[in-house]
Amino acid sequence: MPLVDALGRTITYLRVSVTDRCNLRCQYCMPAEGVPGQRHDDILRYEEIERIVRAAAGLGVWKVRLTGGEPLVRKDLPSLVRLLRDVPGVREITMTTNATLLDRHAQELADAGLDRVNVSLDTLDPTQYAAITRCGNVEDALRGLEAAEAAGLTPIKVNSVVARGMNDGALVDLARLTLERPWSVRFIEWMPLNGDAAQCAEGFIPAAETRATLERSLGPLSPVEDTRAERGLGPAVYYRLPGAAGTIGFISAVSQHFCAACNRLRLTADGRLRLCLLADDEVDLRALVRAGADQAAIQRALQRAVAAKPAGHHLADHVAPAGRHMSEIGG
Ligand code: SAM
Ligand code: SF4
Repeated sequence: MPLVDALGRTITYLRVSVTDRCNLRCQYCMPAEGVPGQRHDDILRYEEIERIVRAAAGLGVWKVRLTGGEPLVRKDLPSLVRLLRDVPGVREITMTTNATLLDRHAQELADAGLDRVNVSLDTLDPTQYAAITRCGNVEDALRGLEAAEAAGLTPIKVNSVVARGMNDGALVDLARLTLERPWSVRFIEWMPLNGDAAQCAEGFIPAAETRATLERSLGPLSPVEDTRAERGLGPAVYYRLPGAAGTIGFISAVSQHFCAACNRLRLTADGRLRLCLLADDEVDLRALVRAGADQAAIQRALQRAVAAKPAGHHLADHVAPAGRHMSEIGG
């Protein structure tokens, strides 16, 4: 039986955070001092993740995305990919990564069965990159992108969070990447989580403004014709520069939310099923799995959780989630 919530939304996509740790400290994602890491024993083991994915796949989830924290800081990620590859019903395994460690792992991940990657990259300027990530080197991320392409982890999406005073001067160069590269460069509105609502409100740039900025420098963007197919039912709306190899997407989770079409659940590294990125409601699946629940019991828990999935977020009413930083959820 498929996972359908009270509003008739069918859940087919599970984002799995494999760690809450990260080798970067992006300004919009976590505080400068980082977030205290979960204890090793509190993090789901790969076999436990596999059991939850297997239960979800039995209910119609076919797409799994590995995220973090930075998924590549967790040891031996390819072995998780191999476990998930063998789960009946899982048709696509993807990963969201900052790519700074990807050059040494891309081929092994592809060999294990990873289909493609989304790479987070907010600027091409080395000084700005170091400032945004508070410690990163843009050359590492660019090497990671090249390695992903060489390993066939394609089509590649590049995700850029947009913020005033952070990277608003870098957007045109990012968009220009699509002229030569068959990548989707997607501009994401900054979302307020865990206490950064004031900072976010100050830096927030709506997707419509980002689009206008790009069009002033690069000329009109044409909508990608079959937007739905191109979107893969995801949240981005896509455009193309004349003659470009790739596309430019906008993800307007705040200014024009797409909650009515939400098809996803999130599993945190400590085994909580999060029903909405921007609401704190969570269900403890780790306790259930560790209590020896069988697959049918995990599936019943998934069904119950989905029945309680919130209709949408309430950012417009100034209600932002307070429980976790983005690095603890995985985006
Ligand atoms: N470390 C990996 C990475 O950066 O791709 C995966 C985890 S990261 C939390 C997942 C995505 O969330 C990234 O694309 C990141 O840019 C985005 N993100 C983090 N904080 C955000 C925020 N406050 N608003 C919007 N997107 C955010
Ligand atoms: Fe780390 Fe990704 Fe958050 Fe940046 S956005 S701090 S890379 S988890």
